[in-house]
Amino acid sequence: MLISVVVPCYNEEAVIARFHDHVVKEAALLGHECEFVYVDDGSADRTLFLLKELAATDPRVRYVSFSRNFGKEAAMLAGLRYASGDAVVIMDADLQHPPELIGRMVQLHAQGHDQVIAKRTRDGDRVTRVLTARAYYRLINRLVDVELVDGVGDFRLLSRRAADAVLSLAEYNRFSKGLFAWVGFPSVTFEYENAVREEGRSKWTFGKLLNYGADGLISFNNKPLRAAVYLGLLLLAVASLYAAWIVGSAVVNGVDTPGYVTLIVIITALAGVQMVMVGVIGEYIGRIYYEVKRRPHFLVQSTNAVPADRLEELVR
Ligand code: UDP
Ligand code: MG
Repeated sequence: MLISVVVPCYNEEAVIARFHDHVVKEAALLGHECEFVYVDDGSADRTLFLLKELAATDPRVRYVSFSRNFGKEAAMLAGLRYASGDAVVIMDADLQHPPELIGRMVQLHAQGHDQVIAKRTRDGDRVTRVLTARAYYRLINRLVDVELVDGVGDFRLLSRRAADAVLSLAEYNRFSKGLFAWVGFPSVTFEYENAVREEGRSKWTFGKLLNYGADGLISFNNKPLRAAVYLGLLLLAVASLYAAWIVGSAVVNGVDTPGYVTLIVIITALAGVQMVMVGVIGEYIGRIYYEVKRRPHFLVQSTNAVPADRLEELVR
């Protein structure tokens, strides 16, 4: 069996060499052949230079370098596309995904699991982070069709057919967490302790996390649109009742004019609700806009690898 290790790297000059040493040591214990597919996601530092150096000394190293930063989702997609292994392990370069676990993953894969998913415990996370994550997953699992699990990320092994299935999903907006879950196949999850990032900085800011969360909510189905419709109907019903009550009381008690505050409140509240609904619709239209453009997910500027689909062409 050939195992591909796919590693998205964005400004990882501080850890990349150490990561490679580490992963090579673990690979030697597998009893399978390995290849390492590093995707340089438009790093501004010496990441690409270091990757080229690694490739020069280790023939199993493939690097794929983007023309600019396209994001981790695109980098993972590229990694999958360029990986030719019978199984593909996706992991971060920052050593937060312990390479020691690859052996366990390959073992579980051999037992017949197409997806071997590493789930990090939230030990050592800030309490606020743990609580927001919990609330978010409760909400999102009620809304999306696939099951998303807290602590489960991109660190996983995919069998060839699972990897091909992910590659067959051509959408531009890639919410990988959901895509992996959507693909299905026999899966197994195991827990590992999260390591702190050894070097460099996390690229996640609060704003980015918020956007990522919203992406997850919207990228799977039209339930938010449905919710907007129901909210509209609910408001309409409340407004009708209120109108009936006003007319009734005018008939019984005569007309009385005050109600300035009520009016202002209702007008602003309705305006707010409408804004939200337009926003929800806009989100979907925005997605359609990106999809119909059919732009590539990434552009490769240099590589020493051939993408798997071209490989078939060359062999033929
Ligand atoms: N990454 C990437 N492109 C980006 C941002 C991140 O390829 O635009 C890579 C990064 O090099 C790392 C992995 O994705 O290997 C996870 O990034 P990070 O450690 O910043 O995220 P966190 O671990 O904090 O979720
Ligand atoms: Mg990290």
